[in-house]
Parts: sequence; structure tokens; C-alpha cells
Amino acid sequence: MIMESSLIKESPLLLPLNKEKTVYDGFITVQEKDFRIRILLPLDHQVKRAKFHCCWQLKHLLRGYEQIVKQRLQHSADLVSFLLELKTVMEVAMKSHPECRSIPPPQYYSQLISEMEALGWDKLVFIDTEFCTLRLKADDSSGRQHALTVVLKAKHPAETPDCSADLPVPLDLKWTPQSTLGQLHAQFLLVVESLAGFWEVLDEIDTKTWVLEPEKPSRADTMRRIAIGTNVSIKVEVDPRHPKMLPECCLLGADHVVTPLRNKLNANMHLWNPDASILLNLQDVLETELPSPATHEKSNFSIECGICYAYRLESAIPDQVCNDPRCGQPFHQACLYEWLRALPSSRQSFNIVFGECPYCAKVRNFTCNNISHKSLL
Ligand code: ZN
Ligand code: ZN
Repeated sequence: MIMESSLIKESPLLLPLNKEKTVYDGFITVQEKDFRIRILLPLDHQVKRAKFHCCWQLKHLLRGYEQIVKQRLQHSADLVSFLLELKTVMEVAMKSHPECRSIPPPQYYSQLISEMEALGWDKLVFIDTEFCTLRLKADDSSGRQHALTVVLKAKHPAETPDCSADLPVPLDLKWTPQSTLGQLHAQFLLVVESLAGFWEVLDEIDTKTWVLEPEKPSRADTMRRIAIGTNVSIKVEVDPRHPKMLPECCLLGADHVVTPLRNKLNANMHLWNPDASILLNLQDVLETELPSPATHEKSNFSIECGICYAYRLESAIPDQVCNDPRCGQPFHQACLYEWLRALPSSRQSFNIVFGECPYCAKVRNFTCNNISHKSLL
């Protein structure tokens, strides 16, 4: 009796066809979609000897999961627990067979079309075959192009869609069940307009200097590593909400070049003008003209690692430099660490490794971040 009532609760569309209750026929429902099934039990009702039949749609969905279903059938204590196991397997299978999911009601499509008509079809750059994922373009007043990706909850159109975009700040769009795509798009435009000053600062850096990192900055990237000279660069972290304020700066390179630059940076910091761009301010406080594509070749700054002879190792660039002014060879941190680890003469103290430069054989100390937890020996 207990099993009976929980069976009705779990699978109300599955009913016994005979008095002995050995033949069950009906439907199993997963993610609002019904699949026809038939279960034949032996007279002692032992599920492990039951036979399971299903419609071709479910057979298609369970392709590759047959062994698991068979195994679940053999190990389930009763019919209800088998049906629960089966539903779990079906839910997993649905994820890899999206075409088996049920389709949204027809008014979903007509609503979508009328909202797109109101917004303008020229704003639509992509729509998936299920009409759930849309990419809308938005041009800001400075002529920059942005894209808003909206994933609509087709089966529950009143639920908040998932919105994402290439932005340096979290995207927080207001949504009510009455909201339209046009309203989402208008809110998104306000967000990108509010960031115009941030992108202006970075666009200037990207076009007028040699940016070593990131390789291809996205609109969301707030960091730039800018070449100052051979083997010396500055890493700046721009605040998207206050793009002209003094950013977090970090100078990278050999000591004999970095030290005088750091002294200038510290001495001139008070000259930082929050009305001028970061690029102009950087040149003022460092008292140097930053090399630009107009004046220098990029190859002057993208010098390969002296160990692996490559510039990029995964995404890292050589940022360890031999401190001997006559050498100055750059290395990837990972390459250098592996190299020094193999030498018996190397020593490590916290995150500083003392060892011979692979190039000039002078004993130098190299700072290896992120490896302080490992030991050299
Ligand atoms: Zn390397
Ligand atoms: Zn060296």
C-alpha cells in the first residue's frame, strides 16, 4: 500500500494493467516531457528480474546509458526506487540530447518575434536553433561595439533570463515578468555608456603603446602590461569606475633598470593629474616617452625566454630577468625555476631563489612568486 501511493506520487501516469500488478504501462515524465514505458514484473514482483520496454524517443535518449539502466534495474529494491533512478539517468541524458527536451509554448515564439521587431532585427547578431540564446549588439556613443548575450527561459518566460557581456564590472540588469528585450537592451546601453571613460583610457594605451599582456585584451580586461624598454615593463590595473585615478602599478625587469624608474614613480606620484589620461600621466611621472608602434618594432620587447626559446609559455611571458646589467636575459618563471631546481648549487629562501644565471653563470637571486610553498631540495 505504501509503495502503491508513492508510485502514484512519483509517476501518476504509470498504472498496473492487471490484477496481479505485474504489467505496468504508461508514461514517465522528465523535464515536462512524457515518455511511454512498459514494465513487466515476475509474479514475485522482484524488480531485478523485471523487463523494461520504452518508446523509441526514450530509447534514443538513453543511447549509451543502457548498461546503467540495466544495472539500476538489478539493484533497485522496488519499482518506485527504480523509477527514481531512471529519472535521474534521464535527466543526465537530457543534458547531452538537448533536442529531446520539450519545446516551449507557441506564444513564446510570437512574443519573441514581436519584441525583436520592436527592438530592430539589425540588433540581432546571433540566435541559436532553440530560439533561447540571443546575442544583441549595442553601439555606444563613441562608436564601440558591444554584445549582450541573453539566455531566455523558454519554458518559464517570466523567469529572469541569464544575461552576460564582455564588461569589467558585474552586469546587473533589472528584470520583471513584463520586461522586454528592448528594455534589457536599453539598460545595457546605459551600462556601456557609463564605462566609456574606462575604455577611452585603455584604447589609448592599446593603440599608442606596446601592450605585452594580455595578448588580445578583451573589453573586460582591466590590466595592461606596457613595454617601457627592452626587458622592462610596467603592469597597471585600471579601476573601471575611476579610470583616470592613479592605478595600481608594478614595475617588472632587471633591478638596475627598475630601481631608477621606481624612484621616479615614487618621487613624482603627487604630480598625477586625475583629469589627464593614464598614458600621459605615466609618461610624466616616469619622465620617459613610452615606446609606441609608431616609433618601435614590437620584437624589441618580446624577447624569447633564454631556456625554452619561446616567447609565450601557455599564457606567460618571460618576466624574470638576469640582474647583471651586461646580461639582462629574460626567462619564464617556470623555466627558470625548473632549471635552478636541477642545480645542486641553488638555494631557496622564502620565494627568492639564489642560483646561477643559465646565460652568464653569475650567481643571481631570482624572485619566483607562486612557488614559495615548494622547496628547492
Ligand atoms: Zn621558457
Ligand atoms: Zn645572466
